[in-house]
Amino acid sequence: MRIIVTVLFALFLVSCSGGEDKTVATGVTEKQQLFKWKLVTTWPKNYPGLGTGPENFAKKVNAMSDGRLQIKVFGAGQMVPAFEVFDAVSQGTAEMGHGASYYWTGKAKAAAFFTSIPFGLNAQEMNGWLHYGGGLELWRELYADFNLVPFAAGNTGVQMAGWFNREINSMDDIKGLKMRIPGMGGDVITRAGGVSVTIAGGELYTAMQTGVIDALEWVSPYNDIALGFHQVAKYYYYPGWHEPGPTLELIVNKDALATLPKDLQAIVETAARAVNQDMLDEYTARNNEALVQLVDVHGVQLKKLPDEVIRELRKISGEMLEELSEDSELSRRIAESAKAFQKQATAYHSISEEAYYQARKEK
Ligand code: CA
Repeated sequence: MRIIVTVLFALFLVSCSGGEDKTVATGVTEKQQLFKWKLVTTWPKNYPGLGTGPENFAKKVNAMSDGRLQIKVFGAGQMVPAFEVFDAVSQGTAEMGHGASYYWTGKAKAAAFFTSIPFGLNAQEMNGWLHYGGGLELWRELYADFNLVPFAAGNTGVQMAGWFNREINSMDDIKGLKMRIPGMGGDVITRAGGVSVTIAGGELYTAMQTGVIDALEWVSPYNDIALGFHQVAKYYYYPGWHEPGPTLELIVNKDALATLPKDLQAIVETAARAVNQDMLDEYTARNNEALVQLVDVHGVQLKKLPDEVIRELRKISGEMLEELSEDSELSRRIAESAKAFQKQATAYHSISEEAYYQARKEK
């Protein structure tokens, strides 16, 4: 009898709280309900930068929610292989995933836009487009068909063009080049006469060492040094024309997200935003240090892609973007939105960021 009275009293208190702390089926209130979620990633467990992003995200969510939303992070292959993350979260096998949208162009071609497009937006501009220029809404529209809600959750800044075992002096050197380069950058290389392949990060060293590939792009000095590519490749080329501001994604199963109380949903959103900026800050600091190590300690040959090659790759990229925008009505809207944003950003950044970089260098 006392138990019944206690329960009734508890329900009375809950009903007095204006519905903010709703009673769920089990009798515990929303604020008492514990969520234990799984987050699968496309990165090796605890991999610097890319892999620590989701770990930081989980820690922040745990701290901000006072342990009400506990997230266990799985590295690639621990629960599902790297390239099954999208399906696993879409189907609800895991509630969350962390990776890059351009891995899923086989599901939706326009997914490429939300990581990075060749000669497209840099990190600062991507963040502006996604959060204040309509990009995120378009991304969510694209993923709605897959029962997923995407968030920007990390950015590496401008990447490197990659590691090569042959010198690139003209477009002829791209012909027959077998290169690990995913997304649209890969399509551009293929159209230029090369062969692009997508291989997960953990397998790249061996692929390069055994000659399965002639070249690879991964990220930038901070990450590349960790995987030891300087031991298996001769030349390190810049700039990363194909990935000027790669955004990483947090994907959340839409049904699972809807089961969270509003405050936990806000925590997920806020933690993703925090991690998105934090990763860029970390890369900004660590790339500098790692480049010094690569060049001064390991004697890496740093090379700039010839202007002629850059010009040709940019031309091909433009053609491919046009074709991609014709893929569907949504693709066209995404392409137009990104293009319009880039036009404005380029105009302003040419007299701000770019002019400032130049001014800083001038003697
Ligand atoms: Ca990359």
